[in-house]
Amino acid sequence: MSGFVEKPQPVQVPGLVHLHTGKVRDLYRNEAGDLVMVASDRISAYDWVLPTEIPDKGRVLTRLSLWWFDRLKDLVPHHVLSTELPEGAPASWEGRTLVCRSLRMVPVECVARGYLTGSGLAEYEQSRTVCGLALPEGLADGSELPAPIFTPATKAAVGDHDENVSYEEVARQVGAETAALLRRTTIDVYARARDIARDRGIILADTKFEFGFDGDTLVLADEVLTPDSSRFWPADAWEPGHPQPSYDKQFVRDWLTSPASGWDRRSEEPPPALPEEVVAATRAKYLEAYELLTGTAWS
Ligand code: ATP
Ligand code: MG
Repeated sequence: MSGFVEKPQPVQVPGLVHLHTGKVRDLYRNEAGDLVMVASDRISAYDWVLPTEIPDKGRVLTRLSLWWFDRLKDLVPHHVLSTELPEGAPASWEGRTLVCRSLRMVPVECVARGYLTGSGLAEYEQSRTVCGLALPEGLADGSELPAPIFTPATKAAVGDHDENVSYEEVARQVGAETAALLRRTTIDVYARARDIARDRGIILADTKFEFGFDGDTLVLADEVLTPDSSRFWPADAWEPGHPQPSYDKQFVRDWLTSPASGWDRRSEEPPPALPEEVVAATRAKYLEAYELLTGTAWS
């Protein structure tokens, strides 16, 4: 089982049409036809959207995405039109709402990996490949790859796993020209971000982008380079051969799988509410990632 433990209800705002409730974001369309993206404080783990929110998480992700978009815009245009709150929107939307160009989304999760871990490691251990790409012998959990690789996945519905696919499969789905553009842009943006993060003592192990088209122009969409879409590791603790500590949901995952939660991941049961100390520690991790990357204090 998976999905929402408690399905969130859309907010009624005059002039906005509710389009979609994602795991983290709520989508609306305004009267100009633009997309209004509201990043909630929801958090997901093990394919469940948990019943407990992490205060300010949506604001942190929104501000961090904006910070990155600004540093990437000479490589690829982004979808943000405005950060102004739509008229009549609740005050709780402040700082978490982006008005974006509504794009023709490419149905591919564009993942770049510079380091081996997660589903990449699992495939490597089976076949010495990731998404069908051959890799050298002798790599371990957390090893840096000889060069960053494009490891696309197909987008799953809420509650399902994204599935890694080969580059050839992407080319079949979206055409050879678009596939090549996605791969090139994904790697270029990853490399830029990796270098920026490295200067701040953070390893960007891997990350996921979503792109859309505005006419013929490829545009960077969704959120970018946040702890929800990326693996960030503290560089000074990096040591291949075991899972790396990271700036994300580790406290949540560790607690949910510990006896303290009383939850069995393999059961049909939804996960329980998070205790206060897990919420506080997770919030602190998101803020720490923001502060380290941007070099500015959260306020
Ligand atoms: P997840 O990404 O965690 O699998 P999700 O995709 O269902 O979950 P969210 O990420 O919470 O949901 O919501 C964002 C949705 O908006 C995604 O479906 C994304 O593809 C879409 N999206 C993002 N930017 C744009 C855009 N500029 N135009 C159209 N759709 C967009
Ligand atoms: Mg998403």
